[in-house]
Amino acid sequence: MERIRQINPGLEIFVAAQPENSICADCPAKNPRWASVSLGIIICTGCAGVHRKLGTHISFVQSCTFDRWKPEWIQKFSKMGNKVAKIYYEHGITEVILFVSQICS
Ligand SMILES: [Zn+2]
Repeated sequence: MERIRQINPGLEIFVAAQPENSICADCPAKNPRWASVSLGIIICTGCAGVHRKLGTHISFVQSCTFDRWKPEWIQKFSKMGNKVAKIYYEHGITEVILFVSQICS
């Protein structure tokens, strides 16, 4: 968290606000430090690579600790985060599908 505070002090508050942000939005990896700015989620290094392959029109990936975020990116993230994103993007998806998607990634 210290590195996020140094590079993106405004972002650190919102990352710390949700315990769900300490786990990758797409897999069980702990302490993720990448984000899909466009989706408003925190993801691990491995999942960041997958998101990058989707293209920036779907998932715009930035590091929380190496890239300096624009204020509008932080503003957007403040309204989402992993907790809200899971409710929004995974609404109606059954536990079986979620489990399969995690073990196949
Ligand atoms: Zn991950």
